[in-house]
Amino acid sequence: MTKDSLRDDTTSPPDGLPSDVPLRILVVDDDEDARRALVSGLRSIGYEGRSAADGLEAWEMLEREPADVILADWRMPRMDGIELCRRTRASGRGYTYFMFVTSYADREHLLAGLEAGADAYQTKPVDLDELATRLGVARRVISAHRRLVAENAALRVDSQRAHADARVDALTQVPNRLSLEEALRVSWSHAKRYGHRYSLAICDIDNFKAFNDRHGHLVGDEVLRQVAATVRYTLRDGDSLFRYGGEEFVVVLPEQLLADAVIAVERIRSAVEGLEVAGVGGAITISFGVAELDPTQDDSPEDCLRRADAALYRAKAEGRNRVATDRPPGS
Ligand code: GH3
Ligand code: MG
Ligand code: MG
Repeated sequence: MTKDSLRDDTTSPPDGLPSDVPLRILVVDDDEDARRALVSGLRSIGYEGRSAADGLEAWEMLEREPADVILADWRMPRMDGIELCRRTRASGRGYTYFMFVTSYADREHLLAGLEAGADAYQTKPVDLDELATRLGVARRVISAHRRLVAENAALRVDSQRAHADARVDALTQVPNRLSLEEALRVSWSHAKRYGHRYSLAICDIDNFKAFNDRHGHLVGDEVLRQVAATVRYTLRDGDSLFRYGGEEFVVVLPEQLLADAVIAVERIRSAVEGLEVAGVGGAITISFGVAELDPTQDDSPEDCLRRADAALYRAKAEGRNRVATDRPPGS
């Protein structure tokens, strides 16, 4: 087997460990001669390495600059190889290929070293052919590990994006009904726990069907987009807009009693009335039904929405382009 056959192929993605990026190697040995011999042995097979005189010095160096590969002696003052290996494994940094290079040639040490988390174990004097082969393995292991980490991060981003996309209405870019249900659940638990009140308003575009019939569905879509943008723009801080379905939207107005909610919603209604959409003659108008949730009563967001919807029905019946409430505001 040639050394080349052990290398990563150059097509590996940049988030792995490309074959032209040198391995960062740290040699740890308290015996200066052994340390120097290993560093120059590494150089003879094409690698550069830093060195440390014991586990503690190595650990301090690693905190400043991590290593891809650690070649560590076993017995050292201050911190031995086993402790360095355990700490390296527990560190939570990127994967480090840990290899013991020791004069302990017995089976017990080999097993204890691997048990502590080492990837490999070589006895002194170091066989450079074996070391070169091990470093090829190290490159593959580190590369695979980095690719996994990168893929995981990409998956997390994808799933966050999918989570967000599933909650936004594609046409108007406002939060959708799923998002509304989640928001109502949160508001409801706050309302119950802290006695917070809020109002809900359902808004529906007037005579939208006739509008679609007259101007076509695409112009209708544009009207929906512009109405949504206008409502959103006119909302007060803390209030939020959701597309409830078709040409209906819900506005959640936290901490607002019915009378205040009506004032806020009246401003929105009037802003939409002033909206001019290219290719559309005549005003676009909306009607609102508003209800207030009372957490001290046997009330729920669903009941509150039902009351707002009944009020909306009345706003339509009374001539549209108006705001109706489920009970007289202030009562
Ligand atoms: P009202 O004033 O009583 O609300 O009358 P309306 O015509 O607005 O109400 P209706 O519920 O009869 O019609 C709603 C229309 O909204 C029917 C449907 O084609 C249209 N609509 C729903 N969603 C969309 C959409 O995404 N794009 C377009 N262009 N039209 C939509
Ligand atoms: Mg309508
Ligand atoms: Mg409708």
